[in-house]
Amino acid sequence: MPAKDTYYLTTPIYYPNDIPHIGHGYTTVAADVLARWRRLRGDRVHFLTGTDEHGENIARAAAKRGMTPQEHVDEINPRWHDMLSLLDISNDDFIRTTETRHTARVQDFMQVLYDRGDIYLDTYRGAYCVFCEAYYVADELVDGRLCPVHRRPVEQREQENYFFRLSHYAEQLLRLYDAEPSFVQPAVRRNEVRSFVESGLQDVSVSRVSFDWGVPVPWDDKHVFYVWFDALLNYVTAIGYGSDPDAFQRRWPADVQFIGKDLIRFHCVYWPAMLLAAGLALPEQVYAHGFLLVGGEKMSKSNATGIRPAELVDHFGVDCYRYYFLREISFGQDGSFSWESMEARYTTDLANDLGNLANRVLHMVGSYCGGTVPEPAVAAGDAESALAGGLAAAIEGLAAFDRLDFKKGLEDLWVGIGAVNRYVEARAPWKLHKQGAADELGRCLYTCVDALRIIAVLISPVMPDAAARLWAKLGLDEPLSAQRYPATVQPGLLPAGAKVERGELLFPKLAE
Ligand SMILES: [Zn+2]
Repeated sequence: MPAKDTYYLTTPIYYPNDIPHIGHGYTTVAADVLARWRRLRGDRVHFLTGTDEHGENIARAAAKRGMTPQEHVDEINPRWHDMLSLLDISNDDFIRTTETRHTARVQDFMQVLYDRGDIYLDTYRGAYCVFCEAYYVADELVDGRLCPVHRRPVEQREQENYFFRLSHYAEQLLRLYDAEPSFVQPAVRRNEVRSFVESGLQDVSVSRVSFDWGVPVPWDDKHVFYVWFDALLNYVTAIGYGSDPDAFQRRWPADVQFIGKDLIRFHCVYWPAMLLAAGLALPEQVYAHGFLLVGGEKMSKSNATGIRPAELVDHFGVDCYRYYFLREISFGQDGSFSWESMEARYTTDLANDLGNLANRVLHMVGSYCGGTVPEPAVAAGDAESALAGGLAAAIEGLAAFDRLDFKKGLEDLWVGIGAVNRYVEARAPWKLHKQGAADELGRCLYTCVDALRIIAVLISPVMPDAAARLWAKLGLDEPLSAQRYPATVQPGLLPAGAKVERGELLFPKLAE
C-alpha cells in the first residue's frame, strides 16, 4: 500500500438549487488559494469540490418544473462550473453526488457500518424542517415551533428510520477534540462543538422513506439515505474509497476541509464519528470560516444581499475579487463586504502600491536601458539592505498561509511591496540617470526588477492572473509555474539581460 503523499483539501459541496453568491465564492477562493500555495511549496495537491444533488428539496424543485430530479440537476449544474471558471479556481476534481462513482461507494460505506452493528432500525418522532431536511429537538426551535435557520414552521414527523449509533462515539470525539486541538479550527468552533457533544449525543436518523430521490439503502429498498450522510461521503468516494485503494491511501486523510461555521455539527461531530465507525483515519483539520455580511445581514439566496460573484468580477476583475475578501476579513471570523471598501482596496493596494510600482520600474528600464535589465555592476549598499529586509519579511510572512491566516500573509506581503516603493523613492533612478551614474542606476533597476520577480511569485496563489501578466512583462525563460517557495523567491536570482516589457497596466483605472 502506498503512503499518503498528497495534500488533500475540500470545499463543502454546493447545493445546486442555490444561485452562486459571494458566500460560495468566499469558501471556494480560500480553498483555491491554499491549493495554489501548497503547489507553490512543492506539494502534490488534490483539490476537490462538487455538488450535493439528492434530497427532498431537489425532488420538489424538479417536480415544480415538470422535470425528473436528474434532468433538473443536470440542467442547473453548469452554473457551478461557471462560478469556478469565473473565479480562476484550480480544483482537480468536481464530484456530483448523483454519479455512480459516488452512489455505489456510499452504499459500500454504509453497509460496513450496518454490518458492524452501528446502524439499526427504529421509529423516529420529531420536529422536521423540510427546507433544512433536518430534525430539530424542541429547545433548538424558535418560539417552540419555527426552524432556527429558516424561521418557518416545522412539521411533526414520525417515521421508521435507520439510525446511526452516534451516541457510542461521544467519548472518542471528546478525546479527539482534546488530544488534537487542530482538528476543529478556529478554537471558538472547537469549543462550540465540544460543548454540543458534552451535552449528550443522541443517535441520528440516516435514512428516509417518504421520498426516493437519494441513494437506496442496499439492505432495505424502501429507504434512501438521508441526504446529509450521502453528501458527507463525497470527501472519500471522490478519491477512490472502495474503488481505488492506492489512490485513496495516497490522499486520505484530508489535510484541510473547509466549511462555513453553520456546518460544524455535520462536519465536526457526525463526520468524524462515521469515519471512526468505518475504521478510517480522520481529517487533519476541519476549518470553519465565518459569514460574509452585507449591511449586517448574512449572505443568502433568500434575501437581497445575495450578490453574484460576476457583478464584482465584471467591475473589479477576478484578481481584486480574490484578493479583497482574504485581505479585508480575518479568515475564521465574520466579515462585512462593501462596494466602497473593495474600491478602496483596488485603488490603494492594487492599482497604486503594486500596479504603479511595476509600471514605473518597467518604464524606467525601457527608457534608460532600452528594455534590457542591466547587470548589477556595483555591490549592494544600505538602501538595498533595507529593501532586502522588507522583502525577507514579506517572504517569511507569507508562510502564514500555512495556518490559513491569509490576512496576515497579505499584510506582510504589502509591507514588502511598500519597501520596494520606498527604495525607488530613496534611490531616485531618474536622478541617477541624469547624473550619468550608470553603474548605480544598473544596480538600482536590477534590484527593482528582481523584486518584481519575487512579488509576482508571492502574489500568484491569491492573484494568479495578475501574477501571470506581471511575469510575462519580465521576459523570463522559466515559467511561473516552475517557481517554488521559498527556493526561487530569494533576491538576486533574476538573470541579467532579461528583456522586459511595460505593456498594459496591471490594474487599470476602474470604470466609473
Ligand atoms: Zn430550516
